[in-house]
Amino acid sequence: MDSPLQSVQLLMLLGLVASVMTIATTRLMRLNPPWLPGWLRFAWLSDLVLSADPRQKALGRRFMVGVANCLAGVLALNVGVVHGLIDATACLYLTSAALVTLAVFYALMRSGLNQRLADPSMVEPQTWVIIGFLAWGYLIGGPGRPVALLLLVAILTFTMSTTTFPQLVRESSLAAALFGAVMWRVAALEGGSASADVMQWVFFCVLLLVLVTLCLLVAQMSRLRGEAQCHQAELNDALGRIRELATHDDLTGLFNRRHMLERLNNEKHRTIRSGRSFCLAMIDIDHFKRVNDQFGHGTGDQVLGNVANTISAGLRETDVVARWGGEEFLVMFTDTDLLTAERVLVRIQQALAQTTVAELAPQLRVTFSAGVTDYQPDEMLTRTIDRADRALYAAKAAGRACVLRDPSDLRASSQAA
Ligand code: GH3
Ligand code: MG
Ligand code: MG
Repeated sequence: MDSPLQSVQLLMLLGLVASVMTIATTRLMRLNPPWLPGWLRFAWLSDLVLSADPRQKALGRRFMVGVANCLAGVLALNVGVVHGLIDATACLYLTSAALVTLAVFYALMRSGLNQRLADPSMVEPQTWVIIGFLAWGYLIGGPGRPVALLLLVAILTFTMSTTTFPQLVRESSLAAALFGAVMWRVAALEGGSASADVMQWVFFCVLLLVLVTLCLLVAQMSRLRGEAQCHQAELNDALGRIRELATHDDLTGLFNRRHMLERLNNEKHRTIRSGRSFCLAMIDIDHFKRVNDQFGHGTGDQVLGNVANTISAGLRETDVVARWGGEEFLVMFTDTDLLTAERVLVRIQQALAQTTVAELAPQLRVTFSAGVTDYQPDEMLTRTIDRADRALYAAKAAGRACVLRDPSDLRASSQAA
């Protein structure tokens, strides 16, 4: 056994081990098994060999599978040379060309230049190149030729999960053409004997069969993937609808009571952190029963929708309004003092007075009463809501179509004055 060849073999073997370890470590990082101690995860290895960027690392891991495949083939050839089964010069050419090509792809990947390409994964060109080397290996591989066929099937099977049907058809056509040509050449090289011809024909037919099977499998996988994507889109739609139903009121499109309580809780916590307070207003449409009685429930519903729109239109983006009950709305004015909240509510009342709220009764105008209060530090939300409710009753008692503070707020403000 001569020593340069031994060195090449050792090099290939080391490369193979390194690439397999890199694949394994990136895989481990994704699976993240809790039982594996940190030092055994070799996270630094994939960072060093591939990249610390998770996107590049995922691409690099796939690239390393190609590298491992290529190195395994080259190693097999070199073993054949050592045992005198394969021509040393031919093997040296192939080994050098394969290593240079791998180095070019690796440099593209490691420098990040691959991100500038239309397909940063470079899967198709890599596969084409590997098919070329495998065909070359088959040509010079002597009795070890079937290894090239096995590696070809391995690499095509590996790309199946990401490849498209047209891509695989292109790759399979290239493989069939190149392997067909080298098999024909091998039959000629082996003296053109009838048995050599038959064996090459058998290999070629089996290869065609495998390639067609892979293509059919990918076509089936593409169909299944398409169906899965459709189902996913339907699920996302359904989820969106469920979310909408869970947080919104159907009739008015405003937030519902449950969601409003969540928002109020969030705001309460934000208030504790920021020290800035908010106001609450309970709004109730005046004499709404009369609207229903006079014009019917259909018109009543339409009025509710239009009042909801008018209130929303009069608020800032940061304010939140919900349908609290039948014809009651709760408004949260964030970072707002009582006086400003009152002014906004009065402006909305004025806007409503100009608004046609029912198509079938264009002359119909509705008013609302509102009770407003501000959140006191550390108090329970139910207390704030109760105060707004009390203020609303006071507004109703005061003759409706007005905005009033809770009497305790009034006391507080007169004391302050
Ligand atoms: P007040 O000025 O005292 O508030 O008088 P009101 O008639 O508005 O008071 P009340 O609370 O007694 O009546 C509210 C009515 O709102 C009763 C109910 O039939 C009606 N209502 C509640 N929800 C809906 C709804 O979704 N659609 C319709 N059309 N009416 C509703
Ligand atoms: Mg009412
Ligand atoms: Mg009411």
